[in-house]
Amino acid sequence: MSPLSDHLRDLIASQGPIPVSDYMALCLMHPEHGYYATRDPFGASGDFITAPEISQMFGELIGLSLAQAWMDQGVPNRFTLAELGPGRGTLMADILRATRSVPGFQAAAQIHLIEASPTLKSIQAETLEGYCTTWSDRITALPDQPLYLVANEFFDALPIRQFVRSGLGWCERQIGWNEGLTFGLAPETRYDSLTHRLDDTKDGDLVEQCPASVPIATQIGQQISSQGGTALIIDYGDWHSLGDTLQALENHAPVNPLQNPGNADLTAHVDFEALAMAAPCAHTKLTPQGVFLERLGITQRAQSLAQNLSGKPLETHIAAHRRLTHPAEMGTLFKVLGLYPHGTTPPPGLDP
Ligand code: SAH
Repeated sequence: MSPLSDHLRDLIASQGPIPVSDYMALCLMHPEHGYYATRDPFGASGDFITAPEISQMFGELIGLSLAQAWMDQGVPNRFTLAELGPGRGTLMADILRATRSVPGFQAAAQIHLIEASPTLKSIQAETLEGYCTTWSDRITALPDQPLYLVANEFFDALPIRQFVRSGLGWCERQIGWNEGLTFGLAPETRYDSLTHRLDDTKDGDLVEQCPASVPIATQIGQQISSQGGTALIIDYGDWHSLGDTLQALENHAPVNPLQNPGNADLTAHVDFEALAMAAPCAHTKLTPQGVFLERLGITQRAQSLAQNLSGKPLETHIAAHRRLTHPAEMGTLFKVLGLYPHGTTPPPGLDP
């Protein structure tokens, strides 16, 4: 049993079964035993690998898309360059390297990272050494100025609630203890926030909600709408949530989400429609990551980088290009949603 299992057993004994969202929040961010709070989970030796860790091309193209959006909006002379959940800081480092040659961009940028894990925050500080960077653990701390923001695999780490339809009501999925952690259902309740899902579900269907994502998307949208800017949100998921997408990964392999709390990464698919609806600004069409990166010129960038490579590094580079863009790899599963001010052009690579 993991130390967090003992804590969960005691918690459930004293207050009864807990919602999936409480379980996910404790597993990921418990200050002593939480998954992100205590380790660096990325890369080949970690539990999973993310797009910026696969290739520098990902961050470079995101950086150029943000810089082009900044130019399209008239080069505001002071703005926030923000990232939500920056992991090792690799994506921001690649954005900064790629935009060095964009006149005025970095002089106008104030780098702001939103990170809840002290362990990852110190790794980010090492990666971004030499840059003037501010950290916050929540998004409400962003300065009131144009906002150019990226979030890669951030929203999938926010805790979700799960509900199983029962007639015109819903039973929330809970986690209890019966000689170990086990799933159960709370009694049926009517939820106003789920009324619209009565149209596209039937008895027994499971839907998910990510309550923490709503105020974050609202704040980003408000700021972009009043101050200008753009946001690129990249994650796996779809326009609408249906079905159980809670998943745990350990050593690059799926495991039972209740098996090893605190030691496996827990994620859920992102409901992009919920983010777009919560953000009071314009949003782009949801676009597959592969299409987005191809439109931004990943193939030309890959060819240019390949000229200086041979042997194993060349093979790795070709595989990375394929991994980021091919429909059988991350190209279709991962999607990109852009947020931008009404009446302006969407960020490059995305359609209105
Ligand atoms: N964007 C990075 C890392 C993705 S993993 C990459 O692409 O490699 C998720 C990141 O979000 C981690 O940095 C994690 O610590 C952070 N995170 C998770 N929940 C958070 C929360 N509630 N508030 C702030 N950061 C959070």
